Amino acid sequence: MPARMAENRTLRMATLKKFGFGPEIMKESKVCSSCGCTCTAEDSFCKNCGAELPRETLYDFYKCRHLYCSSCDTVVRKTATFCPECGKRLQPGRFRRLQLFRSLRDTMRGAI
Ligand SMILES: [Zn+2]
Ligand SMILES: [Zn+2]
Repeated sequence: MPARMAENRTLRMATLKKFGFGPEIMKESKVCSSCGCTCTAEDSFCKNCGAELPRETLYDFYKCRHLYCSSCDTVVRKTATFCPECGKRLQPGRFRRLQLFRSLRDTMRGAI
């Protein structure tokens, strides 16, 4: 990979990390429902306040707020008919959704 591209990629990843976006980072992150600080997926308890962390990662939470393809897990728009990633025909009302704790949803409101 050319150095410039690598640089851009690093910068992009750093930006994603900073703002908590990007599927890979979201899959590795959990958010404390008590104090709202970001922890890693392996943590069971908040490193900041010691509260028990939810089992779901930020990515699980993100998916619960959006519709996503049941075949490849790509988040799609509500109005999409086909998955932009794998081309699977999407059937409204048949998306998988995750049920998460209300406290977590409240914590993350506006953050994603
Ligand atoms: Zn906490
Ligand atoms: Zn798909």
